[in-house]
Amino acid sequence: MTTVLEARELTRYYDVSQGFLKPAATVKALNGVSFSLQAGKTLAVVGESGCGKSTLARQLTLIEPPTSGSLLLDGVDAAKADRATLKTMRTRVQMVFQNPYASLNPRQKIGDQLAEPLLINTSLSAAERQAKVRAMMAKVGLRPEHYYRYPHMFSGGQRQRIAIARAMMLNPRIVIADEPTSALDVSIQAQVLNLFMDLQDEFKTAYVFVSHNLAVVEHVADDVMVMYLGRAVESGSKEQIYSRPLHPYTQALLSATPSIRPEDRHAKIKIVGELPSPLNPPTGCAFHKRCPHAVERCRSEVPSLRPVEGHLVACHRAEEINV
Ligand code: SF4
Ligand code: MG
Repeated sequence: MTTVLEARELTRYYDVSQGFLKPAATVKALNGVSFSLQAGKTLAVVGESGCGKSTLARQLTLIEPPTSGSLLLDGVDAAKADRATLKTMRTRVQMVFQNPYASLNPRQKIGDQLAEPLLINTSLSAAERQAKVRAMMAKVGLRPEHYYRYPHMFSGGQRQRIAIARAMMLNPRIVIADEPTSALDVSIQAQVLNLFMDLQDEFKTAYVFVSHNLAVVEHVADDVMVMYLGRAVESGSKEQIYSRPLHPYTQALLSATPSIRPEDRHAKIKIVGELPSPLNPPTGCAFHKRCPHAVERCRSEVPSLRPVEGHLVACHRAEEINV
């Protein structure tokens, strides 16, 4: 297996204003997250909104440097790359967003929008660019006449196909998809997910698939990382996470997902309360205020991510509560 992307203790803090009278506060949006992504595989990043998964997605595009920690693309540390290398690295990581309409130019024909990355980054002739665009349009299920149409003339599902085609134009190593189907009708979601999978089979692209929807993740993931308040709390293969979740938060997320194998669902755990503010995170285990298994130690000591039963979990009591 080839590692295409490696995150080491990736950390991103933001200073946010709290108004005139209070000092600016620091939000630890991403707090020491590590993982590696294999060529042609899909890592799903899961959690509630506010858990840091979109901050992580943005970091992976190499546009802004992390507060600390490092990102290696094909073994090259982005922080140590010179400008030209970094520019090339960025073309190898492409992004698909939740709302495709926002990422398309309303005044430009689809064919021209798809050709743009080729125009900027390659020396292909106009005829060669057009041929490549038409081939990619066919692969994502768009028709030849769509080449001359504008974004508003398409349905939501078609627009997401356009956004996916654009992400794929430079044959990237990695596509970061941030909730790419959550704005779509349920009937269209499966088609778009299948398109992602078909393109992965053909081009061996690795995906980081960010989603709050565990039914969607089960459809696409090879590996799963569950995040809570800026940290990874559990990670492993999809099979490990879905059949034997060890962290109480993962267990709660899974038992709240109705469409997933209800017959072998473990004991129902409800998530109580709201996600705490990242401005003022709880001490110790950030989940302790919502965790039915919390004990004194959980309030003072941050659990580290450690191997239990063959995958990684950040819970002091993982063994005791999963007998
Ligand atoms: Fe619950 Fe404690 Fe485990 Fe955190 S460390 S998930 S509070 S049992
Ligand atoms: Mg796959």
